[in-house]
Parts: sequence; C-alpha cells; structure tokens
Amino acid sequence: MDLMQKKTEMLSVTDEDLERAAQLIREGGLVAFPTETVYGLGASAMDPAAVSGIFTAKGRPGDNPLIVHIADVSQVYGLSEDITVPAQRLMEAFWPGPLTVVLPRKPGVPDVVTAGLDTVAVRMPDHPVALEVIRRAGVPVAAPSANSSGRPSPTSAAHVAEDLAGKIDAVVDGGPCRVGVESTVVDLTTEPPVILRPGGVTREELEGVLGHMETAASFTYGPVEAPRSPGMKYRHYSPKAEVVLVTGGQPERVTEKINELISRYHCRGKQTGVLAAAETAGRYRADAVFNLGSRGCPEEIARNLFNGLRSLDMQGVDIIISEGYAETGIGTAVMNRLRKAAGSIIEV
Ligand code: AMP
Ligand code: MG
Repeated sequence: MDLMQKKTEMLSVTDEDLERAAQLIREGGLVAFPTETVYGLGASAMDPAAVSGIFTAKGRPGDNPLIVHIADVSQVYGLSEDITVPAQRLMEAFWPGPLTVVLPRKPGVPDVVTAGLDTVAVRMPDHPVALEVIRRAGVPVAAPSANSSGRPSPTSAAHVAEDLAGKIDAVVDGGPCRVGVESTVVDLTTEPPVILRPGGVTREELEGVLGHMETAASFTYGPVEAPRSPGMKYRHYSPKAEVVLVTGGQPERVTEKINELISRYHCRGKQTGVLAAAETAGRYRADAVFNLGSRGCPEEIARNLFNGLRSLDMQGVDIIISEGYAETGIGTAVMNRLRKAAGSIIEV
C-alpha cells in the first residue's frame, strides 16, 4: 500500500460540509471545490507548507505560480498594494467572474504561491460554493485546477477523483462547471495590459472596458523560451490518447480529412475517437464520437471540452481527433486548449 495515501472526504454543499471544507483549509489541508470555470484545488495561500502540498498532489512544476482566490474585493489589498485604475476597472467589470489579474505582490505573499515572482495572480470566482468556502476559511485560497499536472482540467467532482483521490483531503461536489475553461489571465503590471491566457472572459469583453490589449506570444501555440506566465511553457490538457487537431475554414474538408485519418489509423489497428460539433458529429466512422454541442453556441463547446477529452480517454481510444473552432469570443480559449493538448495540428 502507498503510505502517502490519504482518505479523501467526498463532501456535498450542505452547510455542515462547506464548514468542514473551510475547516480543512484553515488547518492546512487540501480541498477541491467547484468554481464557474473548472474545479480548483485549494489551500490557505498564507500557509507555505499547505501550498507546497498542492504542488506535490498535482505533480506541478514548482516554477508554475498559483492563482489566489478571494471571496471579497477588499481581500485584494492584502495581496497587493499597487492597484492601478485599469486594474480596478477590470475588477469592477468582471468580478466575481472568470478573470485573473496579475498585480505587483506584497512581500507577505509566500514565495511558493508566486514561484518567487514579484507579482501575484488574483481572482474572485463566480460560484456560490467557492465563495462560501473561501469566506468561511477566512483566508485567501491558492487554487490551481484540481487535476494531475498536464491532464485535462476537471469540470466535475468525478474528474477530480479520477486524478487526485487518495492525494487530497476532500472534494466538494457542486455539480458540473458552467464555463468549462479556465479564467482569462491579464497582466496589469505593464502598459498596455497583456492577455497572458485566453479564458472565460473574452478579448472583446476586456477591450470593451480598457481598449486595446496586447497578447502574449505563446497565446496561440509553440514552445516559449521566456514565458511571462510560466504555465505557458508546459504541455497541458493532455488525455492519455494522442490528440490530433484538424482545422480549416471549410467544414466539409475538415470532415473529409478526419474520416481519412480514421481509416488510416484503423488500418494500423488503432482505435479512434472524434470530438465533434453537433452539426458534424453524425458524419464520422470512428470507434467513439463525443458531441461537444452546437457551433452556434461556442459556450456549450467550451463547457463540454474537457469532459469530452476525458470521456474519450475512458473509452480507451488510442487517438482523439478534434475539429477546430472559430477563434472569436470564447472560441479563442477553446482553440488555445486544443492546440496545447494536440501532438499534431493539420490544416486543410
Ligand atoms: P491554473 O491555476 O492551473 O489554471 O494555472 C494558472 C495560470 O496562471 C498558469 O498559467 C500560471 O503560470 C499563471 N500565473 C499564476 N501566477 C502568475 C503570475 N504571478 N504571473 C504570471 N502568470 C501567472
Ligand atoms: Mg491548470
């Protein structure tokens, strides 16, 4: 038996269970809870030993900093004393919500949270369970996604259990996540601000408040030598199966190419799964097809994306082939995650 195994408590959203979750966090434990984006793995941000436990449980590289979650805007002043007018405007417009702001950090924020950077990433989630757990814990809560590092992010308590059962103290089951992709990360320590990671708040929404924003080089794809957001240099969101992304402006050609790939993999004795939009899901001759929802509702595609990757994995396929999506609105975040998950990208 693995001596490191913990008993992971499965908690519900009753008053008693939320109090238990908060107590575990206050006492230095690790608790996964739902947010509107994905499930987070929380520990007291002010307790370096607890925060180290997050890195161990996830197998997360120590140079990849964590987002600190708060339940009330006033808590941001405990983490940064340098909150500019643009930062205030974004916080007012999008909090609580899927926006993380990178701010100069106060010296009191532990190094292990920020991976030694002089900045700290902060977010107020828009989920009653997350807000209640953080509020009751009475401390800011450092919380990356509650998955094993490199795997698709978890959008249900079952996904968290798949990766972390036996490694963390508790999981609060609050049902599936509404947004389904992680928060947008914006660096406000520069002028103009830079979008480091596309996510639940769209570029269009951000620019509606602050005007033009820059985009980090690694935003789309490719190895990054000196990333401003350390998370951008790691392989990410990867199921066990190899992922192939097929993109192109003409849906018929994408469908044709995917069916051609399926035949080729079948010849080699490989099982295939396709991640498809509702409009084209019926056209594939794969061993498994996961319908992500209508192209007319990109929010639905985003919500189902990580579940789709994990479900096809559970069905044991060797290769997952995904269609591409238009890179506007939340489609930008969907394509960012698919590109990072993909071992190869084919443009037709
Ligand atoms: P996760 O919590 O797993 O969704 O990942 C959090 C993301 O925020 C990662 O890409 C981190 O590298 C990024 N991040 C966290 N803190 C900072 C920071 N201080 N500066 C830049 N990026 C950050
Ligand atoms: Mg993550």
